[in-house]
Amino acid sequence: MIRRSWVEIDLDVIKTNYKIYQSYIDPKQSVMAVVKADAYGHGAVRVAKALQSIGCKFFAVSNIEEAIELREAGIAGEILVLGYTPITSANDLRAYDITQALLSENYTERMAAKGIKAQFAIDTGMNRIGLDADDSHNCELIIRKYNNQFRLTGLFTHLCVADTESEAVFTEQQIDKFRNVCSLVRDLNLPYIHCLNSAGGLWNDSFGNLTRLGIVVYGLKPDYSNTLPIGIKPALEWKSVVAMIKNVHPGETIGYGRSYKAKKEMKVATIPTGYADGYNRLLSNKGYVLIKGAKAPIVGRICMDQMMVDVTGLDVSFEDEVTLLGEGCNADDMAHFISTIGYEVICDISKRVPKVYL
Ligand SMILES: *Cc1c(COP(=O)(O)O)cnc(C)c1O
Repeated sequence: MIRRSWVEIDLDVIKTNYKIYQSYIDPKQSVMAVVKADAYGHGAVRVAKALQSIGCKFFAVSNIEEAIELREAGIAGEILVLGYTPITSANDLRAYDITQALLSENYTERMAAKGIKAQFAIDTGMNRIGLDADDSHNCELIIRKYNNQFRLTGLFTHLCVADTESEAVFTEQQIDKFRNVCSLVRDLNLPYIHCLNSAGGLWNDSFGNLTRLGIVVYGLKPDYSNTLPIGIKPALEWKSVVAMIKNVHPGETIGYGRSYKAKKEMKVATIPTGYADGYNRLLSNKGYVLIKGAKAPIVGRICMDQMMVDVTGLDVSFEDEVTLLGEGCNADDMAHFISTIGYEVICDISKRVPKVYL
């Protein structure tokens, strides 16, 4: 079936990545699959179901809508909302048995006594959410004060440079601060203590009993400098087709702003994918696509719905398949070209690009 622009997602690759990661980390750690942002563009329900089928019991999302979507699709395990939920949605948290992160003292006070499951976020250096671990006495006070007003199931913190070897000291300090807060409330026997993300689980001291696995389950690297365990690979390919082929003569320009000028006779193909599909416009005159394994550089500015690529000297025909992301041009490489991260590249693929599961 010929489509315009689509992604192919291999759920077996996601399962394999999960298993490889699980065998790589400390056996005391269970994996919590981070499936926020529609599983980083891979489809949260399909990914969570695939992981649930191989024994995953813990899931994390960014907001209550994502959590409810999973529950309604039959995801049974713990679902933790890592960020803000409006206080007025407390009833939904309770009704769907969703665990809410407690962001601050103020937030905790407002959410108290609503009978919800919760875990305290502890801030150890990210300065995003959580009780300040530097005032561990106050952390202890708050945790004890509200312990009985929630079904409190744990404490967690978030590492901000676990993907960077040269910052190992800071990461160690973060884990130590978290360890300290946890030890002050050890007698409460909270079941889940967690501080590791994908990068943390790979390279750092194991502390706690859950690792929050995001980017690596999708087969991408936390940082471009990282190397992943052997066998972990991207689960998503992005495809399009050749919609038109034309000759462009020396001196003619291509696209908006006339940013590309032909120096010789060229053969140019138009690809019906653009920035409204989530293909980053910064790749204009920089990125490339693959057609039958050959690189075709993007020429001119990427438009909303189309882009043009140089196919001079290539054997290319109408409706040939084009690989935008795949082997030979993965999201980490594409991100590196334009100084961003693979996370953003895959999260940006828009809803109008249909997902096909293999
Ligand atoms: C997104 C997120 C993760 C997952 O991070 P990865 O680098 O994708 O593994 C873990 N914990 C929190 C709090 C997050 O927001």
